[in-house]
Amino acid sequence: MNVIGGGLAGLSAAVALAEAGWRVRLFEKRPYLGGRATSYVLPDGSHVDNCQHVTLGCCTNLADFYRRVGAAERIRYYDRLYFADARGRRYSIGLSPFPPPFHMSPSFLRFSALSWSDKSGIGRAMMAIARAGGHPPGIDGTSMLDWLHRMGQTPSAIERFWRVVLVSALDEELARTDARYGIDVFWKAFLANRTGFRVGIPSVPLAELYDGCRAAIEKRGGEVLFRATVRGFRMNGQRAESLVFDDGSEITGDAFVFAVPQSALLDLVGPALGDSNAVFAGLRHLHDSPITGIHLWFDRPVMNEPFLTLLDHTVQWIFNKTRLYSTPERNRSAAGASKNEEGQYLQLVVSASYDLVNRSRQDITDLALREVRDVLPAARDAKLVKSTVIKEVAATFSPEPGSDQWRPGPRCGIDNVFLAGDWTRTGWPATMEGAVRSGYLAAEAVLQAGGKPQRFLQPDLPAEGFSARWAHNGTARI
Ligand SMILES: Cc1cc2nc3c(=O)[nH]c(=O)nc-3n(C[C@H](O)[C@H](O)[C@H](O)COP(=O)(O)OP(=O)(O)OC[C@H]3O[C@@H](n4cnc5c(N)ncnc54)[C@H](O)[C@@H]3O)c2cc1C
Repeated sequence: MNVIGGGLAGLSAAVALAEAGWRVRLFEKRPYLGGRATSYVLPDGSHVDNCQHVTLGCCTNLADFYRRVGAAERIRYYDRLYFADARGRRYSIGLSPFPPPFHMSPSFLRFSALSWSDKSGIGRAMMAIARAGGHPPGIDGTSMLDWLHRMGQTPSAIERFWRVVLVSALDEELARTDARYGIDVFWKAFLANRTGFRVGIPSVPLAELYDGCRAAIEKRGGEVLFRATVRGFRMNGQRAESLVFDDGSEITGDAFVFAVPQSALLDLVGPALGDSNAVFAGLRHLHDSPITGIHLWFDRPVMNEPFLTLLDHTVQWIFNKTRLYSTPERNRSAAGASKNEEGQYLQLVVSASYDLVNRSRQDITDLALREVRDVLPAARDAKLVKSTVIKEVAATFSPEPGSDQWRPGPRCGIDNVFLAGDWTRTGWPATMEGAVRSGYLAAEAVLQAGGKPQRFLQPDLPAEGFSARWAHNGTARI
């Protein structure tokens, strides 16, 4: 069994297949694992994530994968969400003893960044989602923004609530987001279950989460090959016969899971198959959406909270990396603290960062610094020791209205070729959870084709409280 791509989709497929007894060869073009959800070391020794990655309590397959590879202990969960506005005022939202979907209602009612008319509109829309079990009628082909207008949301509720949550979760503006994806985020994370909203953040640089993957593959006689760039594959009738590499060499195989981004897959299959095969041809309809990460190192502590969501700013999240990597050894090696013992490392995220793509890194750093100083008064006197900006122009596929129809399942019409990747049809947007689901689904398809079906996909968190009663009311499903 050959898996091409060592991101979360390829890793989860490879680990699942190894556990099912297959000898897996995993080919990854880079010298490390994790794909888009990874980290690397800067020339001065600081570890930086490609971008801060966050999981949620409702991401059951990602949690399962972390357990399988021994990384679960490296994710810390937070039960309170912190917000700051342009005047630096703080707000937070957390749990109450009320049953879902009302478990966050008391703190939401106290959330003074929104007016009563904003909140009553949001409450109505939330109840429409909850009472329909997450699947309200009449949303096919609708954008999230259109649905919010239809639900009578005020401009400030849209800007300070819906947009704040969804642009980060889906990496797209509301006008370009399919309402199904947006509604699903609220149902799964905030309405169905008490723990779906919990924010999970790695306490180590991302690449360290994958230490156990290689061992899991090698334990069953498989291997992981780095700097192995696949350029294409050779067909023999209805089957793929071999992989062709950068240097012209070939490796034959019985079955292949391609777990590369959709644009890379189109390069691999080439123009002829890319046009004639409906699955591959459809991928051209999926568009990319950018995310920009800004890393700032200060000469002193400027922030107490583990993370903050910003209202009314370009920057959407600030993560206090020094606190998140809070063991003394980790502070020294990962946050670059050995050279900056008293300092603090912050990581800022801007999703759907279309406006930043063509701006210079200096411009982006200046903008980020201004906004940090807006919300963190201690940063006004602090010195910026160093900074780096990472622009991911093709961070995720854009969840545009109707985009789901172009997302294929794990089969593509070639007998022994299987597909995985956050862009495949998982029911989830482009997330780590979506990538792991796709890997598990591909592994299930391989085993099904081999006549030994096995299940890896984990169920969603069960709906609780009143939401459990309403969970089956829905009309349509992703
Ligand atoms: C900036 C940013 C922030 C994000 N934030 C979050 C977040 O907070 N939470 C969240 O859940 N998700 C987040 N995501 C999305 C998440 O990272 C992805 O959905 C997920 O990692 C995709 O995994 P994948 O395996 O499908 O693809 P990838 O991670 O892209 O893996 C594909 C792998 O294939 C390899 N490859 C490509 N071509 C070849 C070839 N020809 N030969 C061999 N190997 C090849 C690549 O090197 C790569 O390792 C973020 C993404 C980005 C970019």
